[in-house]
Amino acid sequence: MAENFDEYLARTLDELRDEAGGEVEQAPAALAEADPGLFGAALCTTDGEIHSAGDDEHEFTIQSVSKAFVYAIALQEHGIGEVLRAVDVEPSGEAYNVVSVEPESKRPRNPMINAGALTIHGLVAGAKAKPEERVDRIVERLSAMAGRKLTVDEDAAKDELAQANRNLAIAHMLRAEDVLPDDPFEVVTGYTRQCSILVTVRDLATMAATLANGGYRPGTEEQIMPVHVARQAMSVMMTCGMYDSAGDWMSEIGIPAKSGVAGSIVGALPGRAGLATYSPRLDAHGTSVRGRAAFKRLSDELDLHLLDDP
Ligand code: GLU
Repeated sequence: MAENFDEYLARTLDELRDEAGGEVEQAPAALAEADPGLFGAALCTTDGEIHSAGDDEHEFTIQSVSKAFVYAIALQEHGIGEVLRAVDVEPSGEAYNVVSVEPESKRPRNPMINAGALTIHGLVAGAKAKPEERVDRIVERLSAMAGRKLTVDEDAAKDELAQANRNLAIAHMLRAEDVLPDDPFEVVTGYTRQCSILVTVRDLATMAATLANGGYRPGTEEQIMPVHVARQAMSVMMTCGMYDSAGDWMSEIGIPAKSGVAGSIVGALPGRAGLATYSPRLDAHGTSVRGRAAFKRLSDELDLHLLDDP
């Protein structure tokens, strides 16, 4: 009998399990304690079929993968023009946590690095929103994309906030440049809770498939965001989602994607599928080593590179 897709996915993970490179993120403790042996993958097609394998029920904190989806929320609330006036969309070629803005416009270079993501977080629910309202809005919208009620790991958030000096430095710099209208500590607190939302690879694959499906959660009639918002979010994933390895990722794997420091990667293939992997050991760019290997394998074997001949 021919192998079905779940079996194919499980075999792919088994074949890549020996991929032993990389290091688990060492701080905060909630990330350092992750079992490096964990490995899961999921794929959700735009018509709503979901496949997964390995540790597909394991919950981990979403971290920077949230940036792509929260960018979509801000775009939907404020329109592309206003969001572009706050945060540019140029790849920075720099690490995610650089303390810098564009010298002329004072805008953060893109929404996928922390300077941009903190600014975008501050836009959610409007300038007058209380910090908890922003996080509530984000949890509610991400849950709508995932099709189940997500929650924040408050212990992980507290733990990260206690060591958030670098993000506080970025937020203070943004406040000094008048990019952030809000109290830097409140924005960092909210952003850290945003990063601590718990998800599985199945959630992330469904959320990415919502982007890939013109804003409709696959298998439903529910339009979570307009198509131009999904397009803009995927465009920025394509050019800036993988930080200082974005060019290498796009040319080799060819799937608009976003990495997170807990070890997940999410990918959105317009009109086709959302994909997600999770495995905690990271390379020097903050990309999961096994996750990258799995994306590469799936891209090659299933012809997923966006620029492949049809
Ligand atoms: N919470 C982390 C930070 O903002 C996320 C980093 C990442 O996932 O790349 O520092």
